[in-house]
Amino acid sequence: MDDLLNRLIQGDRRALSRAITLIESTRADHRARAVNLLAGLPDRQALRIGMSGTPGVGKSTFIEAFGTMLTEQDLRVAVLAVDPSSTRSGGSILGDKTRMEMLSRNPMAFIRPTPSNAQLGGVARRTREAIRLCEAAGYDVVLIETVGVGQSETLVAEMCDLFVLLLAPAGGDELQGVKRGIMEMADLILVNKADGDLLPTARRTVADYAGALRLLRKRPQDPEGFPKALTVSATTQDGLPKAWMEMQALTEWRREHGYFDQTRAQQARHWFMAELRAGLLAQLETPEARAHLKDLGDAVAQGDAAPAEAARDMLDWLQKTTQN
Ligand code: GDP
Repeated sequence: MDDLLNRLIQGDRRALSRAITLIESTRADHRARAVNLLAGLPDRQALRIGMSGTPGVGKSTFIEAFGTMLTEQDLRVAVLAVDPSSTRSGGSILGDKTRMEMLSRNPMAFIRPTPSNAQLGGVARRTREAIRLCEAAGYDVVLIETVGVGQSETLVAEMCDLFVLLLAPAGGDELQGVKRGIMEMADLILVNKADGDLLPTARRTVADYAGALRLLRKRPQDPEGFPKALTVSATTQDGLPKAWMEMQALTEWRREHGYFDQTRAQQARHWFMAELRAGLLAQLETPEARAHLKDLGDAVAQGDAAPAEAARDMLDWLQKTTQN
């Protein structure tokens, strides 16, 4: 165990992979080891960047180019994927080995797809913990990629320092297609594919979004001019340095004004509550608890007990069993 931790701290990618496999495991003994490992991690920080966009918008092309650019600046980059939908459709879209081929061979980079058999709650825990492991392994930037499906965007926004929304060039009508809630989470909107024939449309799209962003309520954690919309091209790499500059400027401002630490503290509190909730629910999963739940459920269904009364009985039962 100490060996794994030591190698992880030295930045060994195989150790990082093994540690993530450990935290992904649902076996009770693995879980216990994982919790120990997490408790022993050094307090290193990476910039956590969440990135969302619908399939086809160019996320993998962007991350490949953006990640490579960062490694050329001597930054170590980890990429984690949050894609709960992939398990439902069978193969993991984000886990496709042919994606980000260049970056995956780069010794300064680490890429980890969504585990199979993952559910949203499990993915959330696994990703939060994997971020911590990447930080401990000395990565400077952790990119957390998600498809714009269900709650995955909210989930990612809640675990990162910056949230970037990648969009395709589109006519004004499609602006409505981006849910207001998602726009409100974005720190930076990047309109990708701003190259060739698509360039004029991309510029118009940016202007549309810039206008829409100005109508949003100003957030305290934003300096003047943020959230921002920019054009980029993952293919030609136009706009990538500018996008990185804006991310750094925003991060620096938030650090100086205390919002960076404040947000992380809130996120840690949120994570603690989520863990606690999961732990409490797990108490209902033992065979004895299940049997007792079934009996009480039957009684309620048959009208022999009131729901509130049965719930109180169950809570009393749990309290008694945990005391023993
Ligand atoms: P993802 O599903 O969001 O990961 O999207 P991909 O990165 O797989 O890209 C989807 C398609 O868009 C591919 O055919 C890419 O070559 C293309 N693409 C991605 N970025 C750009 C870009 O900046 N410009 C142009 N013209 N095409 C792009």
